[in-house]
Amino acid sequence: MNDYIPYGRQNISERDIRSVIKILKSKYLTQGEAVPAFEDAVTRKVDAGYAVAVNSATSALHLGCLALGLGNGDILWTSPTTFVASANCGRYCNATVDFVDIDLESGLICVDRLSEKLSAAEKAGRLPKVLVAVHLAGASCDMVGINRLSKQYGFRVIEDASHAIGGRYRDRSIGSCEYSDLTVFSFHPVKIITTGEGGMVTTNDQSLADRVRRLRSHGITKDPDSFKYDAPGAWSYEQQELGFNYRMTDIQAGLGLSQLKDLDSFVEERNRLADLYRSLLTEIPVEPLKVSAEVRSSYHLAVIRVLNKSAQEHRAIFDFLRERGIGVQLHYSPVHLQPYYRELGFKAGDYPNAETYAVSAISLPIFPGLKNSEVEYVTKTLRESIQDG
Ligand SMILES: *Cc1c(COP(=O)(O)O)cnc(C)c1O
Repeated sequence: MNDYIPYGRQNISERDIRSVIKILKSKYLTQGEAVPAFEDAVTRKVDAGYAVAVNSATSALHLGCLALGLGNGDILWTSPTTFVASANCGRYCNATVDFVDIDLESGLICVDRLSEKLSAAEKAGRLPKVLVAVHLAGASCDMVGINRLSKQYGFRVIEDASHAIGGRYRDRSIGSCEYSDLTVFSFHPVKIITTGEGGMVTTNDQSLADRVRRLRSHGITKDPDSFKYDAPGAWSYEQQELGFNYRMTDIQAGLGLSQLKDLDSFVEERNRLADLYRSLLTEIPVEPLKVSAEVRSSYHLAVIRVLNKSAQEHRAIFDFLRERGIGVQLHYSPVHLQPYYRELGFKAGDYPNAETYAVSAISLPIFPGLKNSEVEYVTKTLRESIQDG
């Protein structure tokens, strides 16, 4: 019997452990030098102007929305095929959330649908203020198409790149914000690199970076030059707006700094494993998610879609694989069909492609450290499940 194979798992080296121990033995566990060093390292790695570290991608999305001025009466659009956090950030700001259906073959937001929906929204006077574009599985959305529409209709763009650090689009790194206002990364252990929990916002707009930095720490500034009132003494700080404690610790940043050194090799290995799956899956009726030629995916997920199967058959394939120790997962059950969003008025049938996707997609195990023999076992078992099922 094989060991249970999860769909994803962190990869922690001895160097990572030493890096964390170094912080534990240093003067500061938080608000020291490791967080700014990690921010600088990510800035350089993804070729962005600024980076601000926070305690999760969820916090990064929340602060990103606030920095863009999203509030009561505003509208945020995102993909229904994502983790709930991509939509919840709009609700945190009391904005209305709506969705744009996906392209079935890539799982990414469909730019034609987006264009149609924008045209209808303009007539109705209901244009979104913010679009959260989700780079599902590690593959960039059509950012040129999205950027063109954002200029035409005047909305702001956040890239939810929780899956996609280390990925590339048109010869630029994901996070360079060439076609967006902000990019968000997640460092949860199942993602590409980890800090335990953690997230990051990157941008080329200094005022957005300053705003996110202030909001992550209570809305407080310690810079006397930006004080609104005369400082009574050297002990002063000002709370200028209502912020949060969304700070990353230096312990986490110490891990992140070391993990970042392995980013390229992790992404390389994920691409190799994705290629291996593709070569082993040619003779069965399944299709890997389509990745456009201008994209290098970071392959956070190895998603395949089973073709010509009912929802029951899809479910049976899942059960078959799980019973044989393979931790397949569904990314994602459509957000609009979560009970919370149903209560806001969404229902089955609203986003047909996202719903069809959810009864055909399966995330197969992929992570650095997964063995070739395990990939072979997964594909052999998948083949059996499709033939038996
Ligand atoms: C994981 C994830 C998030 C949230 O990340 P956290 O760091 O766990 O808050 C947001 N969006 C997507 C698409 C994700 O996969």
